[in-house]
Amino acid sequence: MSLNRTHYRPIDAGVLAEIRAAVGDAAVLTDPERLAPFARDASELAAVPELVVAATSTEQVERLLALADRRRFPVTPRGQGTGLAGGAVAGCGGVVLSLAGMNRILAIDCANLVAVVEPGVINGALKAAARAKGLFYPPDPASFDTCSLGGNAATNAGGPACVKYGTTRDYVLGLEAVLANGRRIRAGGATRKGVVGYDLAHLLVGSEGTLGVITRLILKLIPHPPAVTTLVALFPRMPDAMRAVSAILGRGLMPSAIEFLDDHCLSLVGDLLPFRGVARAGALLLAEADGPATVIQQQIEAMGEICLENAADDVLLAPDSEKRARLWDVRKQVSLRIEEQNPVYIPEDVVVPVAGIAEFVGRIPEFERRFEIAIYAFGHAGDGNIHLNLTARSESDRPRVEAAIGELLRLVLAMGGTISGEHGIGAVKREVFHPDHDHHFRGLEPRNS
Ligand SMILES: Cc1cc2nc3c(=O)[nH]c(=O)nc-3n(C[C@H](O)[C@H](O)[C@H](O)COP(=O)(O)OP(=O)(O)OC[C@H]3O[C@@H](n4cnc5c(N)ncnc54)[C@H](O)[C@@H]3O)c2cc1C
Repeated sequence: MSLNRTHYRPIDAGVLAEIRAAVGDAAVLTDPERLAPFARDASELAAVPELVVAATSTEQVERLLALADRRRFPVTPRGQGTGLAGGAVAGCGGVVLSLAGMNRILAIDCANLVAVVEPGVINGALKAAARAKGLFYPPDPASFDTCSLGGNAATNAGGPACVKYGTTRDYVLGLEAVLANGRRIRAGGATRKGVVGYDLAHLLVGSEGTLGVITRLILKLIPHPPAVTTLVALFPRMPDAMRAVSAILGRGLMPSAIEFLDDHCLSLVGDLLPFRGVARAGALLLAEADGPATVIQQQIEAMGEICLENAADDVLLAPDSEKRARLWDVRKQVSLRIEEQNPVYIPEDVVVPVAGIAEFVGRIPEFERRFEIAIYAFGHAGDGNIHLNLTARSESDRPRVEAAIGELLRLVLAMGGTISGEHGIGAVKREVFHPDHDHHFRGLEPRNS
């Protein structure tokens, strides 16, 4: 995709002086060495901003956006830059507005089960602070120890726990944001319910910084589950694993995570897994149950039975926290190893209706053969959210990878799915997303239309 700097004039000395006067000298970074870390997020895109404003207060955000509105320079909000869609990259030039310094947890209210936070608070820091008070903040992107809650709200981040607990949107009760003209708004509040007026808070969630800059969040907390237990099942073939997932969900069991890895992923991280049989396996399921110890024991055993009914070769329980942590660490290693071992690596995060996941993953080998590439698939089986990692051994193969992506996205849409479950549109998908037509994507129309 192309970054476009042509729509705006560069920030001149006069505008720079106005920015300094508006937000204070100390907040403005112009030294190239200090700008460099703000040039990238976790996507392949890069663009060094003209300057960075490192905000520490909502008033600075208000004054910067009011000025940007008057002087017509672009402002790109940024949390921790872990986004995978290039949304925090200043592709049009102008200012990157870093919210990382607005990182105070303002309240954890145990009586009302809410937290009030600034946008730069790291997700894992809120989890830990809530845990210390017996409370739980469930949204758990794999990047939870580095990404910000403002970024999570802006991208409606999710993770393995979504299958039981939902996405970030389900935990945002209210927020404060500054609009593009510098006006501060408050939407929602600290109550569990509220149907007064339009639901602007949830409109801002997932808007990827396009509707306003989130400067404060009121988040729902829940009591921390007393116990958690884990199961790993190895299957000879992926469709068997996916049938097991449908059966687990269909029989009313409520896993707090149900993740899968395909055989390519297993060949990458099999050496790290503490059991035998991985080399022969076609798929792995990692399922968890949380809640009272006696209840989850029954649930995890029932999930294990279902896996065996669906042709699992092996089912292993990992109730202790050390084994659990090790399994989740292996799950995290998958992306790192894919990236390390493949010069061309494009991550996609498609979603298909849950009942279609077996069919979808069953068709991936066909794409590998047709485009002569390798596709690593893993993800959140219970949500139908599949992380497809399309790879090739050499840069000259990139066009084939890109052609395969187009075809896969077309299949996803034909199956009633959507082209991103978590990573968002950002800049990387801006050219295919067509906001005027719900679920129609430029260049991805079905072949027969
Ligand atoms: C290893 C790894 C694993 C990941 N796993 C997951 C996962 O499991 N689930 C998932 O959902 N994502 C995942 N991600 C993607 C990423 O971590 C999330 O999108 C996260 O929510 C981004 O937070 P951030 O603070 O880094 O935001 P940034 O990358 O800085 O920004 C992301 C977007 O939000 C906007 N934005 C940021 N802050 C604000 C604000 N205060 N107000 C308005 N707009 C704002 C930016 O303009 C940009 O469009 C992963 C990324 C990595 C690198």
